Amino acid sequence: VTIHILGCGPAGLAAAHAAVILGHDIRIFSRNRKSEMYGAQYLHKPLPIVSELGGCEIIKYMLMGTADQYRRKVYGDDYTGTVSPEDLTKEHPAWDIREAYDRLWNIYSKSVEPVDNISPRWMLFNKQLRPMISSIPLPEICFHPSMCNFMEAIIWAAGEAPERGTRLSHLLQMDGSTVICNGLDNPLWYRASHIFDRMTIEWPWRAGPSAMTGAAVVKPIRNNCLCWPEVLKVGRYGKWEKGVLVHHAFEEAYKWLCTSAVNP
Ligand SMILES: Cc1cc2nc3c(=O)[nH]c(=O)nc-3n(C[C@H](O)[C@H](O)[C@H](O)COP(=O)(O)OP(=O)(O)OC[C@H]3O[C@@H](n4cnc5c(N)ncnc54)[C@H](O)[C@@H]3O)c2cc1C
Repeated sequence: VTIHILGCGPAGLAAAHAAVILGHDIRIFSRNRKSEMYGAQYLHKPLPIVSELGGCEIIKYMLMGTADQYRRKVYGDDYTGTVSPEDLTKEHPAWDIREAYDRLWNIYSKSVEPVDNISPRWMLFNKQLRPMISSIPLPEICFHPSMCNFMEAIIWAAGEAPERGTRLSHLLQMDGSTVICNGLDNPLWYRASHIFDRMTIEWPWRAGPSAMTGAAVVKPIRNNCLCWPEVLKVGRYGKWEKGVLVHHAFEEAYKWLCTSAVNP
């Protein structure tokens, strides 16, 4: 079966990888450029084949203040769901996300068919391209933007990119593989991470201009969009949900592709 994938970032290519492992053909529709990955991101589970040669580090998770203070600091008073210091164990393994994405890109980028503006109209016009898995930000393909709600939090984040000469050690000294979540009012940052020799510092939106080193980043929380129910949505932006990680795209695509909906 030919599986149609939207988006060629880490989530889209992880889904493509699942399809190929299951013996399917793939067509990928996306803006044809490699996603940039800044700072201390990591794979929480290895991806078959592409993570097999890569190293694994043990991450130490620490919390300053309480989980409640952290929840309010990052997401404000309206959010009552769980936060990462509650969801993740204090020590857990991490795999190199950049190395895995580099390998996925080397294998699958030749399958990308450039499309600059996938939109609800494009989706309608290409209704015959099924089965389909989308990692495009869900609001970009939503057919009923006035009815569907997309909840998000905006934060400031600065991530190290040594290949561009961007380092953050002048702001904070960190070593080892560590994530510090900070619910206290001082210091202002709410999370500082140092993983695979790269640091990320994140500040709440209200930190405003004091986070001059960072860029505004949208963190999806949840949505009630029911558009394109036959399309599997993957990735944090594709699903527009909190807590979604790159390895989930592989797992969800693999599971979905094993169902009878795809293999009648
Ligand atoms: C601060 C922060 C930290 C995170 N840390 C981690 C982590 O440690 N581990 C982890 O697994 N995940 C993490 N995530 C979540 C997420 O997995 C990463 O952000 C990941 O890099 C996103 O990959 P993606 O493929 O979903 O999105 P993207 O890399 O943005 O890919 C989207 C693709 O769709 C294409 N596209 C978008 N719109 C259109 C359009 N209209 N038409 C055509 N093409 C389009 C783009 O060109 C791109 O190819 C983090 C997220 C944030 C915000």
